[in-house]
Amino acid sequence: MKSTMQTTPLLISQILRYGTTIHADQEVVTWTPEGGRTMSFAEVGRRAAQLAHALRGIGITGDQRVATFMWNNAEHLVAYLAIPSMGAVLHALNIRLFPDQLIYTATHAGNEVVVIDNTLAKPFSQLIGHLPLIHTVIVNGPIDEETKAALGAPEHVRAVHDFYEFIDGQPDSFDWPEDLDENSASSMCYTSGTTGNPKGVAYSHRSNYLHAITDAQMLGLRQGDRNLVVVPLFHANAWGFPYLVMLAGSSVIMPDRFLQPEPLARMIQDCKVTTGAGVPTIWSELLRYLDAHPEIDTSSCYRLMVGGSAAPPALMHNFQERHDIEIIHGWGMTETSPVGSLAIAPARTEVGSDEYWSYREKQGRLLPGFQARLMGPDGEPQPWDGESVGEIEVSGPWVTGSYFLNGEESAKDTAEMAAKFSDDGWLRTGDVGLITADGFLQLTDRAKDVIKSGGEWISSVDLENAIMAHPDVLEASVIGVPDPKWDERPLASVVLNEGATVTADELRDFISGKVAKWQLPERWAFIDEVPKTSVGKFDKKVLRKRYADGELDVKQLT
Ligand code: ADP
Repeated sequence: MKSTMQTTPLLISQILRYGTTIHADQEVVTWTPEGGRTMSFAEVGRRAAQLAHALRGIGITGDQRVATFMWNNAEHLVAYLAIPSMGAVLHALNIRLFPDQLIYTATHAGNEVVVIDNTLAKPFSQLIGHLPLIHTVIVNGPIDEETKAALGAPEHVRAVHDFYEFIDGQPDSFDWPEDLDENSASSMCYTSGTTGNPKGVAYSHRSNYLHAITDAQMLGLRQGDRNLVVVPLFHANAWGFPYLVMLAGSSVIMPDRFLQPEPLARMIQDCKVTTGAGVPTIWSELLRYLDAHPEIDTSSCYRLMVGGSAAPPALMHNFQERHDIEIIHGWGMTETSPVGSLAIAPARTEVGSDEYWSYREKQGRLLPGFQARLMGPDGEPQPWDGESVGEIEVSGPWVTGSYFLNGEESAKDTAEMAAKFSDDGWLRTGDVGLITADGFLQLTDRAKDVIKSGGEWISSVDLENAIMAHPDVLEASVIGVPDPKWDERPLASVVLNEGATVTADELRDFISGKVAKWQLPERWAFIDEVPKTSVGKFDKKVLRKRYADGELDVKQLT
């Protein structure tokens, strides 16, 4: 029987309209050297309409790709909402990729117009000559004549506009198309491509809509919350935040390029941040800063979301115990919009109890509508019993069913992308872990980071967490290195806090009660900093190469 219900498509323009009218008084605060500058959600709505008119004027009338190359700021949010709402496709370029990867992703996606920040205009002027499809560059903020000339120099560039000159004077309302197919592409993101070329995911209006309402609900985002969005808008669909905040009616604090702990702490204090989102390394540095500066008032802040890589339990405990801030673990991937699980402990658990922490330290409870299964090494599904381990495969309305292809991929890339999906269409995440009977996911590792020692698996993440619980340790990253007897053994690369003198022997003793004896690393290296990827994750590829090139000073314990 067919339902009697209306089939209104789920579109980003509805999110935009809702947030900028119903929650018109909420605001976006963009950090500057002088403090915050504020734009109300109502103005975001007007600016989005003006941008859409101006883009129509330069020929963006269909599903052309419009890129951004920006920090997190009000204008980026305007673009994030306007471009999909008008029916075009937003591609937020990862400003931290290597030039070759940026050129690859911008070209592969077919970007025709780009909105950039003035503070990124110089690096972008080095790229534009290699991006023949881009005909218009829109610059947010003033630039000097020389940079403007460099941006406009390639023959394929028709115009370089100042953002506000481009949109000022345009009508401040827009007839957002309501007949778009909810399954059409709204936006795209590329994975950072640890092997091969970055892979493109094209989100739909529907996937974004469903992800945003579910995520906002499960995260418990409240009207009037003030979200410090440190996760870059180009990282994994900005974790949905541009849409979440419009639906929840909660203000946004955008750090722009001020991502160091000192300005972030000031933002929390001055802008009365209540909640936020970022990767573990950002919050680790902030914790260190807050510990050293007890005069900073963080009393407004009750919860920060962390994701992108495993959050060390010590980070969560210390934030909660010393600053009364809950760190909520989320797991996801570019391919999953990205949020698949959130670690909110079951209501029955007593805050602070072992059971409570055992849930909080996991990657989280699967979101409704998001399906996961565990596949054992022989391809057999494993039970959700909190013990059986397997590769996690997922499916659901905000999980990609394939990668974006433009027909010019190499056979190798095409085969690699196809292999990421099971025969019945589930996404193979490449993450290894377990699921409890009540639907909490716990990752033990990325498949490629698991250390295979004498036929047994050692979780690099467990070792890292155990080492990072030592008060003298700032960061620790563990990789598998070749071993003549065991095939592979763990190598722990450790960054100590300033002035700390703890030795490798002492660290090994410290973790010996926490992991099985045979898993204890014999190889240790003290380094100045763990190398990070373009989105702030530990870059194990670089560590492996440094080890192979003999660049690490490795101490071997007996
Ligand atoms: P990339 O593959 O470029 O790093 P993503 O940000 O999409 O880009 O990475 C997704 C991966 O990040 C996941 O497959 C998982 O391995 C890791 N990850 C994300 N969140 C967590 C988390 N909370 N704990 C552990 N790993 C995580």
